[in-house]
Amino acid sequence: MKVGFIGLGIMGKPMSKNLLKAGYELVVCDVVKAAVDEVVAAGAKSAPTPKAVAEQCDLIITMLPNSPHVKTVVLGKDGVIEGAKKGSIVIDMSSIAPLASREVAEKLAEKGVDMLDAPVSGGEPKAIDGTLSVMVGGKKDLFDKYFPVMKAMAGSVVLCGDVGAGNVTKLANQIVVALNIAAVSEAFTLATKAGVNPESVFDAIKGGLAGSTVMNAKVPMILDRNFKPGFRIDLHIKDLTNALDTAHQLNVPVPLTANVMETMQALKIDDMGQLDHSAIARFYEKLAKVEIKR
Ligand code: NAD
Repeated sequence: MKVGFIGLGIMGKPMSKNLLKAGYELVVCDVVKAAVDEVVAAGAKSAPTPKAVAEQCDLIITMLPNSPHVKTVVLGKDGVIEGAKKGSIVIDMSSIAPLASREVAEKLAEKGVDMLDAPVSGGEPKAIDGTLSVMVGGKKDLFDKYFPVMKAMAGSVVLCGDVGAGNVTKLANQIVVALNIAAVSEAFTLATKAGVNPESVFDAIKGGLAGSTVMNAKVPMILDRNFKPGFRIDLHIKDLTNALDTAHQLNVPVPLTANVMETMQALKIDDMGQLDHSAIARFYEKLAKVEIKR
């Protein structure tokens, strides 16, 4: 099967390479030439525009930063919609606003083109290993048909509902992760200021009810003062902006999300937007004038 892949950034590059490894023929496109050259060197062909990708492929995967980029690439001038044939499908794996997913899907449907929204969790290491978690929205028959393509990049691929459900699930994921890091940061700041070794606190509580995948991943980074991303605060702000917008459109108050969003805004103003989101700890440390370290 010939697959189009548009968006060869931190995530898209390793994901597209895993499709090549799985034996799929690939036509790729990105505005950054160096990224295209790297994936072409690994065996893909390139096309100059999303329209040209869609003319050559019946399945087009997009992995772009946010809703406006997906709308431009899929619906804009020289976009996928101009080149796609009736019966083709777009699988958008970007993390975008669920309402934007539905809007793009409706426009594509007018042309007889299908869509799944299929954002991922796991970050660059899991994109490289091909062990991402994919949360999918769309029709069951399409999910079943394209499951093997998504599985070539993932450890788990789960259908969550209709189009948009993938991105709703991703927003839920991002809220839980952000609040979990904030809770860990607040608790470890208190323990450190109280004179208790934070490494001992981690060893004592990680196996109990307070333990979590987030705690296991982020506390060692905080203790090592290693805030290299990982997942940048700026990207998490993008996801929480989508969470707040979606919640407000649906009349759902999300006070804890709003709180951690303000924490991230303060860190961004302090020039920490490019750091890993474990740097949320630095906000609490600054307030309490203490550093969580080994
Ligand atoms: P990135 O910024 O590294 O990559 C995006 C790519 O899209 C870039 O190569 C950019 O040049 C390309 N692009 C932008 N506009 C384009 C256009 N008009 N035409 C063609 N190419 C265009 O971002 P990323 O980290 O790879 O993330 C992609 C998506 O995956 C985001 O929605 C992000 O939130 C999500 N995500 C990222 C991570 C992570 O750890 N980085 C983890 C899970 C999900």
